[in-house]
Amino acid sequence: MQVPLLDLRLQYAPLKTEILKQIEQVADSQTLVLGPQVEKLERSICDYAGAGHAIGVSSGTDAQLVLMMALGIGPGDVVVTTPYTFFATAGCVARLGARIVFADIDPATYNLCPDALAEVLRRTPNVKAIIPVHLYGCCADMARITALASQYGVPVLEDAAQALGASHPMGGAGAIAEAGWYSFYPTKNLGAFGDAGMVTCRDAKLAEKIRSLRNHGMEPRYYHHAVGGNFRLDAIQAAVLNVKLPHLDSWGAGRREKAAVYRRAFAQAGLDRVMTLPQEPWSDSGLANHHIYNQFIVRAPRRDDLRTFLKESGIGSEIYYPLPLHLQECFRPLGYKNGDFPEAERAALETIALPIFPELTSEQQQYVVAKVAEFYGV
Ligand SMILES: *Cc1c(COP(=O)(O)O)cnc(C)c1O
Repeated sequence: MQVPLLDLRLQYAPLKTEILKQIEQVADSQTLVLGPQVEKLERSICDYAGAGHAIGVSSGTDAQLVLMMALGIGPGDVVVTTPYTFFATAGCVARLGARIVFADIDPATYNLCPDALAEVLRRTPNVKAIIPVHLYGCCADMARITALASQYGVPVLEDAAQALGASHPMGGAGAIAEAGWYSFYPTKNLGAFGDAGMVTCRDAKLAEKIRSLRNHGMEPRYYHHAVGGNFRLDAIQAAVLNVKLPHLDSWGAGRREKAAVYRRAFAQAGLDRVMTLPQEPWSDSGLANHHIYNQFIVRAPRRDDLRTFLKESGIGSEIYYPLPLHLQECFRPLGYKNGDFPEAERAALETIALPIFPELTSEQQQYVVAKVAEFYGV
C-alpha cells in the first residue's frame, strides 16, 4: 500500500470543472493581476476569518514582509518570535534589517511559550513586534501573549500561514491580534495553484498603506509615495482560491476526523505510551475548528529510523523542522548556540509529520498505525 504525506490530486478532481471554468473566465477577461477575483477573495477572507481588512499578495512571505514594511520595522528594531517555525517568519525580519530575538516554545504545543516570551520582553529593549506562529494549524496561547504585548505596548503579528480556519477562544487565527497573514502555498489547507498570500489587519490606515506598498507605493500610476515592492496577487490564483474557500471548513473537519482516527488507533495499539500525540489546547472551548491539522505531528523515539522504515513501507512523512532557526548558518551572526532553546532543539530532533489530508482512507490510516506498531514491536 502507498500512503503519500499529501495527495492534492484527490482534492482537485471533484473541483476540476469549476476551477477550469473560473480560470477560463480570467483568461477571457485578460485582467490577470489584482482585479475583481482578488477583491472577491479579500472580502471572503475578511468574512471567513473575522478580519477587519484583508490584502491579497504574492505569497505568505511577502505578506509578512509588506506588513512589516508598512509598520516601519527596520534597523534598530527588535522582533521577538519562535525559533521553531518555517524560515520565512524570521527571514523577513532579517531582510528588513531588524534584529531577531527568539523565545523558546511550549513543548506540548510547539508554539511560542508565554513564559519564555515574558522573560525575553523583560530584558530586551526596542521590541517593535511579537510574532507568534500558529504552528501546524493550532493557535498559540493568544490570551497570555496579547496580555504581555499590551503590557509592553508592542503589537502582535500572527503568522497564521498554516492556520487559516483555525479558531481560538479570542477569534479566528490571523484575526485575533493587530495584524497577521496567511499563505496559500499549495500544501497549506487552502492552497492556490502556485504562490499566493494574504495580509490581515484591524486598522484601516494600515490596510491602506499595505495596499499601496503592495504595488510600489504607486498612486496614481507612476507617482510613488513610498518605496514598496511588487507584492501583487495574480487573478488566476485568486480565482482558484475563490472556488476552494467554501470547502475549507469541511476539509478542516475531515482532517480533524482523521486525527481522531489516528488517536484512537494509536491508543488501541498501546502506541500512545511510546509516542506523544498532538495536543488540542482549545478543544474544551467548544469551538469546532480548534485545530485544523495542517500537519499531524508526533514525538517519536528513534525518529530518523522510524522515518526510514515508513519510507520503505510506502508511507510518506516529513520533518518540520530539522534545524531550529537559531542554529541556521545564515543566522550565525545573531550569536546563538546549541542549548539556547532546548525545547525547540528537542522538537527538531524528536518530531515527525504523518500523512493527514481529508481524502486519506481508513485503510491507509490503519496501515500507517500497523507499520508504526511493527517498528516499535508493540
Ligand atoms: C508557509 C509558511 C510561510 C510562508 O508562506 P509562503 O506562501 O510559502 O511564502 C510562513 N510561515 C509559516 C509558518 C509557513 O508555514
